[in-house]
Formats: sequence, C-alpha cells, structure tokens
Amino acid sequence: MSPAQKLNIPSDRLERLHYIRRMFAHAKGADLALDWSGGRTHAIRKLHAVDAAQYGRNRNFINGAVTHLSPYLRHGCISLSEAFAFVKKQFGLQADKLLMELAWRDFWRQVWLSKGNAIFSEMEPPKVHLEYQPLPDAIKQAQTGLPCMDSFISELFDTGYMHNHARMWFASYVVHHLKVDWREAADWFEAHLLDGDFASNHLSWQWVASTFSSKPYYFNKENLERYTGGKYCATCTARCPFDASYEALNTRLFTPSVAANSKQYPIKSLPMKAAHTFKAVAVFVHDEMLSAQNPLLNKPYPKIFVFDPVLCGDWSLNRLQFVADCLHEMIDVEVWVGDTHAVLMQKGVGQVFTQVTPNLKLREMLAPFSPSWEPAPKLANVRLSEQRLRRFSRYWEKVGPVLMMDV
Ligand SMILES: Cc1cc2nc3c(=O)[nH]c(=O)nc-3n(C[C@H](O)[C@H](O)[C@H](O)COP(=O)(O)OP(=O)(O)OC[C@H]3O[C@@H](n4cnc5c(N)ncnc54)[C@H](O)[C@@H]3O)c2cc1C
Repeated sequence: MSPAQKLNIPSDRLERLHYIRRMFAHAKGADLALDWSGGRTHAIRKLHAVDAAQYGRNRNFINGAVTHLSPYLRHGCISLSEAFAFVKKQFGLQADKLLMELAWRDFWRQVWLSKGNAIFSEMEPPKVHLEYQPLPDAIKQAQTGLPCMDSFISELFDTGYMHNHARMWFASYVVHHLKVDWREAADWFEAHLLDGDFASNHLSWQWVASTFSSKPYYFNKENLERYTGGKYCATCTARCPFDASYEALNTRLFTPSVAANSKQYPIKSLPMKAAHTFKAVAVFVHDEMLSAQNPLLNKPYPKIFVFDPVLCGDWSLNRLQFVADCLHEMIDVEVWVGDTHAVLMQKGVGQVFTQVTPNLKLREMLAPFSPSWEPAPKLANVRLSEQRLRRFSRYWEKVGPVLMMDV
C-alpha cells in the first residue's frame, strides 16, 4: 500500500469533484450529481422538502414522493431520530407510512448491532432452493436485454440511487431468475450505492432471498407495469420473464429447499496491529458521523478522518465525492487517504474518541488505540430481545407504540 497522504479538500464544488476524481483515479462511475450533494446543509434541505402525506399515498410508485434521505442518514449528516422527530411533528398521523419506513432502517441496524458479522451469512435456512451462480457481466454492464432492469442499473451507475421498489424487483430478478449468489450480488450492489449500508442492504437481499423472511419476494409484470406507469413495458421487445401469474411464476422459479442448512460465508479478520504507548488523543471521525453538529467534534482534540481502502476501497466515485462534500462542511477535520493505523501512528495517537458502530472492521482497526466508543443517537430507548429482532413485525409491536406516542 502506498504511504498515507493528507488531503486538502477544495472549497469550490467543481474543483472538489475534480480533486477527488484525481486522488481516487481507480474509482469507477459517474461524478456526483448536484441534486445529491453531500453534507448536512443539503440533508436539512431534503428533510424540509419531505411531503409525508403524498409519500403515504404513492411511495411504491417509481415517480412517487420518496425523500432521497438515505445517503444523508447513512453517513450521519442527520440522525434517524432527528428525521423521525421532524416528520412526526410536521405531519402527525399523515406520516404513519414514512415513520414506519424510517423505523425499518433502525430495525436492520439493531439486527447488525446484535448479530455482528453474522448478517453477511444466511440468517436462516432458505425457504426455497437457492442457487449460487456468479454475478453475470450482463448485470455489471447493464445489458440484460430487459429495458426495466437495464434502466435501473444505469440509474444506479449514473446517480448511486435506486428507488426501493426497483431495488426489490432487481434483487428478486438477480436471485430468483438468474439464480445468482445473493451475497456476491449484495456486495456488488452496496459498493455502487450512495447510501450503501451493510445492514439495510445485506439484510434486504436476505429478505428477498428468503433467508431472513418467511418466503421469497417475487413479482409479476402487472406489478412492475403498474408502479412504473408502464414506461419500460411500452417499448420492450424482450421475452418478458415476469409476464405470468403468481402461481405460474411460483412453479417456474421455486422448488422447495432440500438442504435445511444456511450457507455461511467466512469473514476475514484484519491482522491485529500492535498497541503502543503514544500519548496524543484524537477524535476519530468515521463514515457514519459526517455532520458538523456531531457532539464529538466539540472535544478539544484533533479530528481525523481516513479514506481507508479496507473500508471504502470499492466505493464508486460519486460516493467518495459525496463524503468529500460532507467533510468539506466539517471544518477542523483532517482528511487522510491510506491505512488508518499508519495515519494514527504518524500523528502519535494513543487514544481515540469515536462514535459507536456495528461495523466490526472499523472496531478491529481502532482496537490498538484504546477507543472510547461514544453513544450514537438512538431512535427509541427500548430493550429488544433476540425474538423481537427476527422480524420487523415483532420489532414494531414493541417499538411502534413508543415511537408513535403523541402522534
Ligand atoms: C435489495 C435492497 C437493498 C437495499 N440497500 C440499501 C442500502 O444499502 N442502504 C440503504 O439506506 N437502504 C437500502 N435499502 C432500503 C431502501 O430501499 C432505501 O433506504 C430507500 O430506497 C432509500 O431511498 P429514499 O431515501 O428515497 O427512501 P424513502 O422511501 O423516502 O424512505 C425514507 C427513509 O426510510 C428508510 N427506509 C425506507 N425503506 C426502507 C427499507 N426497506 N429498509 C431500510 N430503510 C428504509 C430509509 O432511511 C429512507 O431514507 C435496500 C432495499 C433493498 C430492497
């Protein structure tokens, strides 16, 4: 690995985009679109533009009033509890659908916190027979021949975003029609998303696959046509794999699972790096706490962020630019690219303050620096048993009444 390098993120947005493109010459994909500029200022703007009443009526439509908040929530530009409280206050009962969707994010995260790296393997035996083919080039090149899927993939490449319903259709197509290994697909997908988040992503792929749900998710042409306004089907000349009744698709796609075992994927631990006796204290800013309002930034220590290839080596260009936008708003944060351990050693750091995370790679990386894991804002102060974390409905039974009090 090349030596760690300090970055000087330009203030001018265009220069910043160019700079990041130069510094991460290996990163693939398009530049970050203006609509998706990173940082808290844009996050607040998006939050104020939310129309929760419309969202409740049309969120499943591809052109519905979705919020585009996910990259900002993922990177901590705003906290989930802040977004939840704002929407609840502004819209009251009209916001019930959006509030519940926001809680899904908390649910997946609680599962990650509780299960750790187990979320990268099958949480339960699949309910139908799964196959584990490699992800085909046709997907990686947006050339499946199906205008709907190719358009979803192209949007992902161009913007780093895909609507929730399109994510469900796409994942179902990949896992159940193409019989691809969900884990390889989930890794690939996460790396292309601006909001790439292991909990929401990998557990959603498992939900589609049926390894964290009671049945596989699948859809037919009628469903896709309805929620896309028919815009892909109108000109499609391909033989449509979705044009059938649910009964026919069920027979065609699924055979009962014969193996009752769930597939396990080994996770490599990082090599343990030596502890040392340095004295300096620093705030370690990581990719879930990118807000100038983060209380840890008030501590009187140097603040350090590292683009470490172990954590973000496969991120798309627009995601790196999004993060650079966020960091640009956080004055006083030193930004580095390279090996986290080497950067902290070079700065003589012996102890770090940082925000708690379920990301075990990050925890391993910071272990030699006596980390003090400060709490992140919680959506609800509710203790959840293992049972509650097995399905969203069980989670919601307990958390919903607390969150929806006074609506
Ligand atoms: C296969 C698959 C992969 C996914 N990967 C990710 C991912 O890597 N990162 C990610 O943030 N979300 C992921 N999701 C969840 C969801 O699709 C996105 O959060 C949502 O589409 C983001 O767009 P939005 O902010 O406009 O959402 P909106 O529909 O406006 O929802 C508002 C917020 O509610 C939360 N939310 C809504 N739906 C879900 C959901 N199903 N699960 C969790 N949170 C939800 C998000 O924080 C979102 O920002 C995935 C879903 C699927 C089916």
